[in-house]
Amino acid sequence: MHLGRPPRCVVLAGAGLYHGRGMANESANHHRNIWAPWRTDYIDSLSSQEEDKGCFICRARDGENEAAELILWRGTRCLVMLNRYPYTGGHVLICPNEHIGEFGDLDNATLTEMMQMVRDAQAVLRRAVKAQGFNIGCNIGRCAGAGLPEHLHIHVVPRWPGDTNFMDVIGGIRVVPISLAELHESISRAAEELGLPCRQPEG
Ligand SMILES: [Zn+2]
Repeated sequence: MHLGRPPRCVVLAGAGLYHGRGMANESANHHRNIWAPWRTDYIDSLSSQEEDKGCFICRARDGENEAAELILWRGTRCLVMLNRYPYTGGHVLICPNEHIGEFGDLDNATLTEMMQMVRDAQAVLRRAVKAQGFNIGCNIGRCAGAGLPEHLHIHVVPRWPGDTNFMDVIGGIRVVPISLAELHESISRAAEELGLPCRQPEG
């Protein structure tokens, strides 16, 4: 169900995840915000994605190839995966295995494991991409900016001093210093070094 036109611009601010409708009158916040307008490609694709392919988290959960699905590690009830449309390099999603959209519908064991994964993701990202800070949060409901409201996920976004800039706003340029495949490899390796459970590829 769609509750209106998707936002045109997505902003990650220091205190949380925001989805705005424009870039005007935001100059005062440039020192605190990451602008990620390229994510409109993702948001605009969601309606057809949901209809055509189903839930991307469930697809990743059931996929055979961990790297192709961007799965980083798995627990008993939850999984950690890279966001295919990241705010920053190393932006991960922590998701319950079950296709559930509300915290209130999760059992206590799943809730506990999700928070353990938030803790572990910080340790992994500090090791793998030298993260020095994090934005952690979720968007519940489409009106709050959730791209996939039916399957809950917690965003863990690594941050570094001085990581905000005007590149995307002024030039429409997306700076991608490292590929998703490289990130998957380095973050998975860091997870293994920290002893986190990873499903070995079959075959
Ligand atoms: Zn799902």
